[in-house]
Amino acid sequence: MTDTTADTARPPRFPELVPLTRPTVEADAGLASAIEGILRSGMLTNGRHVREFEEAASDYLGVDHAVAVSNCTTGLMLVLRCLGLTGDVVVPSFTFMASGHAIDWAGNGVRFAESHARTWTLDPDAVAPLIARAAGVMAVHTFGAPCDADRLQELCDTRGIPLVLDAAHGFGSRYPDGVMVGGKGVAEVFSLSPTKTLSTGEGGLITTNDAALAAKLRTAREYGNPGDYDSRFVGLNGRMTEVSGALGGHALKGFARWIHLRRSLAERYRTRLGGLPGLEFQEVPAGAVSSYKDLGVRVDGARFGMTRDELAERLARENVSTRKYFSPALHQQRAYRDVPVDADLSVTEHLAASMITLPLYSHMPARLVDEICDLIGELHAARRSIQRGSGGRAS
Ligand SMILES: *Cc1c(COP(=O)(O)O)cnc(C)c1O
Repeated sequence: MTDTTADTARPPRFPELVPLTRPTVEADAGLASAIEGILRSGMLTNGRHVREFEEAASDYLGVDHAVAVSNCTTGLMLVLRCLGLTGDVVVPSFTFMASGHAIDWAGNGVRFAESHARTWTLDPDAVAPLIARAAGVMAVHTFGAPCDADRLQELCDTRGIPLVLDAAHGFGSRYPDGVMVGGKGVAEVFSLSPTKTLSTGEGGLITTNDAALAAKLRTAREYGNPGDYDSRFVGLNGRMTEVSGALGGHALKGFARWIHLRRSLAERYRTRLGGLPGLEFQEVPAGAVSSYKDLGVRVDGARFGMTRDELAERLARENVSTRKYFSPALHQQRAYRDVPVDADLSVTEHLAASMITLPLYSHMPARLVDEICDLIGELHAARRSIQRGSGGRAS
């Protein structure tokens, strides 16, 4: 795009690209020797380190069972498969594509539902009219804010159908009643990929208080083979590698401190940007704690003086990475064009059109947050000259 503003020649505010996120890995001698031990042992997958990680994670999360898998998408697929659901699963359209993909891969239909305008999570009021014809509900802890799992559970109980929680963003989050995310629904599934709050490189973790389901999931991640090579059902290879298990166990030791820092950085953003008109933050339910997997900001173009896309472009020019999460929303993506939509998704479409996520990672310097906030404040203050400078550009 040709820039017509006067400041094109000026170097960007940040000489190096500010990443949207980075995994926090404490690459110390302990981790190095654990990985070396794995390489020497010849046990490269689903061994001692994976088991120890599962135990440490279930302790941390306060759940009975944790089953480590190769990634969250596979974990969600295996949960749906093990539940033996037939029919449609209700899912918010305002989510990452993998939520819907897992439902489709498990052989279920995707049924889109609306998200709440302030919490940005699946709206129980929108689920209620869909529940009679649903086989299950999959809710998402969007950006780390716990969804209203209790009300969704009540709705599911009226029909005896399961609530599955896509907890990809929720490692380190807490429900309003003090239960850690991981402890509700029939199962919760975390993602441990590098953009999430706890990372094992690639990985996922299924948590459940249902012993029979946990046992079935352990078989499911081994192709459905309980060990005698007579597969009982069609599973998958969903195993976690030992190196990932070691990374997870190591990351878990420092996790409480890092998630605390991450939360304080998110709050710093919220405080510093809170005074600007037209920027809205996610409402975290009273008493709940968000992991702040992402720091999402909704940009009201008319009030902020600049659209979401203009702000993203301005920040990119200054070397600040942002992402338009989740745009397009799931029902707007080409892969889903044949899926019928019979719900009002206007909030979802509104969110998708106005949402931006700002750089955030647990070891991010507070100074960097301040500098980004200052920059956004300056862009807002200079919006009239920006609008003149980019005159005529459609947006
Ligand atoms: C990242 C993500 C997933 C998929 O996780 P993987 O571990 O990459 O499979 C699923 N759902 C949501 C909401 C996500 O953000």
